[in-house]
Amino acid sequence: MLKKQDIPAQDWEDWQWQFRYRLRTLSQLDEALNLTDDEKESLTKTTRFAVGITPYFASIMDPHDPNCPIRRQAIPLGAEFISHSNDLPDPLAEETRSPVPYIVHRYPDRVLLIVTETCHMYCRHCTRKRRVGFHEEAITSEQLAIALKYIEEHTEVRDVLVSGGDPLSLGDERLERILAEVHRIKHVEVIRIGSRAPITNPFRITQQFVEMLRQFHPIWMNVQFNHPNEITAESTKACERLADAGIPLGNQTVLLRGINDTVEIQKHLVQKLVQIRVRPYYLYQCDLVQGLEHFRTPVSRGIEIMEHLRGHTSGFAIPTFVIDAPGGGGKIPVTPHYVLYQTPEKIVLRNYEGKVFTYPEPIK
Ligand code: SF4
Repeated sequence: MLKKQDIPAQDWEDWQWQFRYRLRTLSQLDEALNLTDDEKESLTKTTRFAVGITPYFASIMDPHDPNCPIRRQAIPLGAEFISHSNDLPDPLAEETRSPVPYIVHRYPDRVLLIVTETCHMYCRHCTRKRRVGFHEEAITSEQLAIALKYIEEHTEVRDVLVSGGDPLSLGDERLERILAEVHRIKHVEVIRIGSRAPITNPFRITQQFVEMLRQFHPIWMNVQFNHPNEITAESTKACERLADAGIPLGNQTVLLRGINDTVEIQKHLVQKLVQIRVRPYYLYQCDLVQGLEHFRTPVSRGIEIMEHLRGHTSGFAIPTFVIDAPGGGGKIPVTPHYVLYQTPEKIVLRNYEGKVFTYPEPIK
């Protein structure tokens, strides 16, 4: 087993070493964790969605607790192989919103550019599991040229989200070439990167890497911390490096049953995130992906969490709770009801304590 104490620091802290030695098989994981029978059996039939866990991410799991929130995001259970009537292979209809391969154009002024189908760690709750992890391939130069041509021809696109898979599974040189190509398109005003590397392989965020990114400002990054236990010394350092390079960080948590679906965990998470300069951005209701039914929570749970955040902690620490509408409708905010009623003269509201207030409309 690849345990931190047995590995020279220069290897353990080398992101490529972590990537190369991802734990992928039952025997590797059985050495690392006290696996349950369900986990063992599930690890023998993972053809539907790959398993791959960096030794670092495995090291922050509780080897003896099958309910460990880190473990539950990474090790499959039998429930993942059960189909349900609400399951959709492509819940956000990304394939139908894909005018050319590797581009998803769902909103008017922005596109998603998928540059790889490889990740440092394969999250069991992945929305894009229909295409991620099977071949571990990245976009080819020819495919990239077609995708870039599409962006060039669509002058309404002012924001490009570079995602995957995890774009940070590509090496610096390859990523630099891609970012440079996007950056030179005049109407692209901002580049965003979506990555879980700061959480699953924080050593990826080297000083050299952030210096490379700085060339392409304004550049933003969306990360995905789902539980406070993911905020370690290593992931903190990764986020601090990015923030120091002037890269604003937004967090997109997925609400997951048994992992982070309590007010206490979410409050702790958002408060820890702002301490490491990561702004809580979205709290996602779990998508209707095949094999995710056991992760889904009632929508009322998300509303309850929002009710207990608003007013109870700093406003900038509160994410927007959204449902990404099945069928490609985009993100729809879901909030507790604060407006009790409204007339042309006034609006009657309640605050976070349940107290009622009236705000008069302008006098005509
Ligand atoms: S890092 Fe993102 S794309 Fe990769 S498995 Fe996790 S959620 Fe899916």
